Amino acid sequence: MSVPVTLTTSPKQKPAADSLGFGKFFTDHMFVLDYSSAKGWHDGRIIPYEPISLDPASKVFHYGQAIFEGLKAYITVDGEALLFRPDRNFARLNHSAERLCIPAIDEQQALEALKQLVEVDRAWIPAEAGTSLYIRPFIIATEADLGVDESTEYKFIIIMSPSGSYYAEGINPVKIMVEKKYVRAVVGGTGEAKTSGNYASSLISSKEAHEQGYSQTLWLDGKENKYVEEVGSMNIFFKINGTVVTPELTGSILPGITRDSMIQVLKHKNIPIEERHIAIDEVIDAHTNGTLEEVFGTGTAAVISPVGRLLWEGEELVINNEEIGDVSQLLYDTLTGIQSGKINDDFNWTIRLT
Ligand SMILES: *Cc1c(COP(=O)(O)O)cnc(C)c1O
Repeated sequence: MSVPVTLTTSPKQKPAADSLGFGKFFTDHMFVLDYSSAKGWHDGRIIPYEPISLDPASKVFHYGQAIFEGLKAYITVDGEALLFRPDRNFARLNHSAERLCIPAIDEQQALEALKQLVEVDRAWIPAEAGTSLYIRPFIIATEADLGVDESTEYKFIIIMSPSGSYYAEGINPVKIMVEKKYVRAVVGGTGEAKTSGNYASSLISSKEAHEQGYSQTLWLDGKENKYVEEVGSMNIFFKINGTVVTPELTGSILPGITRDSMIQVLKHKNIPIEERHIAIDEVIDAHTNGTLEEVFGTGTAAVISPVGRLLWEGEELVINNEEIGDVSQLLYDTLTGIQSGKINDDFNWTIRLT
């Protein structure tokens, strides 16, 4: 089932590949779907990219009922367009929706609409190595009413942004600060949902990290301030004495699709991988006794971000001589190889557009 399309009469100039950066430019079209309690989700349509007009009393502005997703479309080495595990994104969007009392969308219809939108704006997918089209689906509460209860009206929108190569100058390990003062999430809270409020409350920590020369925050668990959870907008992995370890999903950690993909690739390559609690003390001890071999974050934007320095209680740990490790490189090459069509997709993760 296709949705009606209104094409723009004034297509925008496409930015040069080397000026893309992240999230700065937007394509010519967007997908919009409305919800009302009377009609359910209805009126799906692809229209020219444009500002939306909302009543100032819209609930999203006051009580933060907002969720989002992030995924990418790529042009392969043989010129085809593909999406990477988009079904997982819509499934996760519905998990977030459930936590925030937002009505579920039809995942299959959302995927069909996304494919149609990507076809319409296909010329916006940059083809240079490392570039991609970043896709941002999101849902906001639009009922104009200040009563504190779940909205009876919503908008589901998909916008798309051509994004540049994350590693134009090669993979540079990042510097990360372990956060002790603030917490991101607690079990029972919203840490597992991709909701805007999680980001609003994390900004102060990133700001303080930046002031000290670190690019992101490593969060510890919100109860004991002891176990490692995740980094900014990435999940975290440690390679200790030959075994890769990542925090298990406890309810306060965002279940990353890249995280899941990495775990599957590691198992496929017979590299030992454990999902379990990992205390920050274990990481420090491993560094002290020389068994902390690699640390890396994973997420859709960068795929892999090696961690070169970790700040903990005023002490800076230098990891793997601030170079990308063998396992990080292997995982990066495998995932980007599948995404660019250079490597066979044994996992059936990609959806090719016709
Ligand atoms: C989106 C996100 C991630 C990474 O998820 P991917 O599906 O791999 O992109 C990790 N942590 C947080 C907090 C996120 O919002």
